[in-house]
Amino acid sequence: AAQEGFDPEDIEGALDEAGHGPLPVLAVVGRPNVGKSTLVNRILGRREAVVEDRPGVTRDRVTYEAEWAGRRFKVVDTGGWEQDVLGIDASVAAQAEFAIEAADAVIFVVDAGVGATDTDEAVVKLLRRAGKPVVLCANKVDGQSGEADAAMLWSLGLGEPHPVSALHGRGTGDMLDEVLNVLPEAPAQTFGQALGGPRRIALIGRPNVGKSSLLNKVAGENRVVVNEVAGTTRDPVDERIELAGRTWTFVDTAGIRRRVHLTEGADYYASLRTAAALEKAEVAVVLIDVSEPISVQDTRIISMAVDSGRAVVIAYNKWDTLDEERRFYLEREIERDLVQVQWAPRVNISAATGRHTEKLVPAMDTALEGWETRVPTGRLNAFLGEIAASHPHPVRGGKQPRVLFGTQAGTRPPRFVLFASGFLEAGYRRFIERRLREEFGFRGTPIQVSVRVRE
Ligand code: GDP
Ligand code: GDP
Repeated sequence: AAQEGFDPEDIEGALDEAGHGPLPVLAVVGRPNVGKSTLVNRILGRREAVVEDRPGVTRDRVTYEAEWAGRRFKVVDTGGWEQDVLGIDASVAAQAEFAIEAADAVIFVVDAGVGATDTDEAVVKLLRRAGKPVVLCANKVDGQSGEADAAMLWSLGLGEPHPVSALHGRGTGDMLDEVLNVLPEAPAQTFGQALGGPRRIALIGRPNVGKSSLLNKVAGENRVVVNEVAGTTRDPVDERIELAGRTWTFVDTAGIRRRVHLTEGADYYASLRTAAALEKAEVAVVLIDVSEPISVQDTRIISMAVDSGRAVVIAYNKWDTLDEERRFYLEREIERDLVQVQWAPRVNISAATGRHTEKLVPAMDTALEGWETRVPTGRLNAFLGEIAASHPHPVRGGKQPRVLFGTQAGTRPPRFVLFASGFLEAGYRRFIERRLREEFGFRGTPIQVSVRVRE
């Protein structure tokens, strides 16, 4: 396996805490042999991480729960990753990349006796670009005499070097106090924002597709939850409507209700409104008027929804107008113009008659579920391993780039980071994305796949 040296399930443990009081993640990053594992042991207060004199030793675990001064957090020991496969520089860069993607704060460990190497400088650049808090650990300062070496590390530009002896414990307490100062209380990767609150829906589509009719239909047939804020009932911006026993918020409905018909720059204002609604929404219901050919404006609005990273449902409206002939052409138009959202759930509705509008809720649920799906790192890497074996990247210029491992860096929408040994061609990236969908679903959600190249 490409990911020898770390157990993907442990990273998942660090990332996959939705709903159980997620802990912030602290990554310990640095060159081999600088003392990362020794430091992790020190933080844990017990001998748990494996420490070996040989660099690149395979470790059983990488993530541990720790507690300092009454606060709990996860520690990720990045020691031992990929060193055989990638070489030291690439391995350390990969750790830094991971820290950038997944950690909430970083301890960057340097061997003060050795001083800053070129590899260290390169990692500092990566860390600085990430904007995550970094605490600089000048390790192996076992006594007073090493303090001067530690001071030399000011040159890295990461602020104060903390002189530490991970082996004997000297200075580790002060450094950890500083870590707690910069470590956020909760991880950045939270899902909390909308947990529990009503789901937010944007009804979007070009003028006259039937947005206002659909809103009136669902508001007329369902309970409208009255907003208590004075003045909001007259010209509500967001409307709360109970559908299938749950409250949903339709965002930015004022524009839909007001029915402004602008002639000058109507398209421009329509796209502004669409963008604003998407900004506030979790799921976009894109209406398409089936009585007319699918237009460039329709596909542009779909692109806006996809690019905004929202869950997407396509509602083919005015289905009551459809005859056999139009239906034939419509299916061809969909095949030709809407391939980019083949993955979106589809409902064929009539806002005028109410036909199949009850199918909106299951479609939105499906899309939101895909939007929030998290693939455990272990499963993801097993899947990536299978792909590498069955469909390797084509050889280019005598080299064959390989996906080494991957992790899901976020949800809403799902975001993946793949670490590869070389540049992956667009066709191969699309292939992986297609296979990800086949394997894990992701109905109704855009997914983002980015590739980090280790050379
Ligand atoms: P890693 O590869 O960065 O995880 O480094 P390790 O934690 O495995 O440590 C590499 C070697 O450095 C081991 O032999 C440790 O005992 C030694 N070491 C780690 N921290 C210190 C320290 O503070 N002082 C001294 N003298 N040796 C240390
Ligand atoms: P909006 O601009 O997207 O809000 O579109 P409207 O809701 O104002 O609808 C534009 C026109 O399409 C109106 O004349 C509606 O009566 C008509 N319309 C909307 N939905 C349907 C439908 O499902 N079937 C039919 N036949 N007409 C519809």
